[in-house]
Amino acid sequence: MAEKLKVLFVASEGVPFAKTGGLADVAGTLPYALMELGVEVKVLLPYYGAVKQGKIPTAPVAENLEVPLLEPLSYPFDLMAPTSPDYPFWFVARDEFYDRSQLYGTPKGDYFDNLQRFAFFSAAVLPACRAMDFKPDVIHCHDWQTSLVPVYLKNHWAWEGLKAGTKTILTIHNLAYQGLFARNKFYLLGLDLSLFGIDGLEYYNQINLLKGGIIGADAITTVSPRYAQEIQTPEFGCGLEGVLRNRTADLYGILNGVDYQDWSPETDKLLPAHFSRDDLKGKAADKAALMEAFGLNKKLAKAPTLAMISRLADQKGFDLMAQVLPQLMALDLTVVILGTGDERYHRWLAAEAPKYKGKLGVMVAFDNKLAHLIEAGADMFLMPSRFEPCGLNQIYSMKYGTIPIVRATGGLADTVTPVGSPTEPGTGFVFSDYTPEAFLKAIHTALEAYKDQQLWQRIMANAMSQDFSWKKSAQKYLELYKQLV
Ligand code: ADP
Repeated sequence: MAEKLKVLFVASEGVPFAKTGGLADVAGTLPYALMELGVEVKVLLPYYGAVKQGKIPTAPVAENLEVPLLEPLSYPFDLMAPTSPDYPFWFVARDEFYDRSQLYGTPKGDYFDNLQRFAFFSAAVLPACRAMDFKPDVIHCHDWQTSLVPVYLKNHWAWEGLKAGTKTILTIHNLAYQGLFARNKFYLLGLDLSLFGIDGLEYYNQINLLKGGIIGADAITTVSPRYAQEIQTPEFGCGLEGVLRNRTADLYGILNGVDYQDWSPETDKLLPAHFSRDDLKGKAADKAALMEAFGLNKKLAKAPTLAMISRLADQKGFDLMAQVLPQLMALDLTVVILGTGDERYHRWLAAEAPKYKGKLGVMVAFDNKLAHLIEAGADMFLMPSRFEPCGLNQIYSMKYGTIPIVRATGGLADTVTPVGSPTEPGTGFVFSDYTPEAFLKAIHTALEAYKDQQLWQRIMANAMSQDFSWKKSAQKYLELYKQLV
């Protein structure tokens, strides 16, 4: 039998252990889809407080491992793993770095030592591989937090005992987060100063970890075909469009898949009632529970509920939302918003909620159970993103018959088919211009369609029939791995 292809995922978050956004869904679910295709996958994550105190018991596999070569980062760490063999996860444990209440920072700002935290994590990959006795053909890195892995691999590591010619892939989940740090911290990376240059990690006199990964990785992927194109333009390139264009031959857009085991209205364990395309009764019960949870006026039960679940960040279009909110609130509908993030948006929501009691429900929290209830109970889902690498919520929404209203950018454009397009009846409502007028117009069009319940049910049925499971995308990753090795 041919030896299995071996892939190590190195990521800064992954479900079910630690999550702030879509990266966690990908790092925690794509490995299983790859395993089904015959790949041997292990996933390495930091051992956060959330993992330590989480429901899944873990135990040390190896203790006091040293990070070789990197003088400034040569602290010892422990390698942890779940006690159950069901999980292909391993953890780099150094409490001083990772045992904190959050993953990257608090609403007030990032942790001051994120450079050391993630440089250390990246450097720990080599000793972790040795301790796991795992010789990966491909190391699959994700975002700036693990962008140093290709850099260390190329410039630093002696891979004694490991495979020669291990390849690296960097997946960019969001180009807006690049891992920028002051240049005077460069010595902490244990890299030669010659790497702090225009062809290396230097970016306007700062350290840019993502840039290092883009230059160093053997291939780069991002999470939708449209976003792969967009990021090579000044509008979406966040200053790295030139660096990305230089790598255009090695840059691929592979759409994220989702895990329908967790996100299907027929089986969702977190819902009060189940439903399906052919029997929607349960959706009404979920809507009632949702309205109750958010203190919405029960007299408005027949009016559509519009929902948002999101990191509260500029990217997600909250400035548009703020501009249209007064006009929305004058219409026959209710709105629920679940989110955490920037403090100024917390303040905005806290100020708006009391003005529209019974019509606007707000929860400033990260609450997975509530996220499921919203997907199931709402009628429409708003994603007016300024940019969106892939976006998962619009995909979940479709499965729950909660019709997305999205801006035509990145993965939103790749996954939502506009109602009224030749592929009638479409799966959602799409607008292009990043203006409150265009957003509001799309909402009005959706509200009109909602009044024709026959049409609406057809749109729902079509949306619920879409299949964005990992199968196709995992196959594309597998082809890329094979091409590299
Ligand atoms: P991003 O990764 O940019 O935050 P995505 O749409 O790709 O956006 O993924 C967001 C993921 O995080 C989804 O699974 C979504 O349900 C979840 N999520 C975001 N905010 C919250 C929240 N406040 N509570 C619960 N889940 C959330």
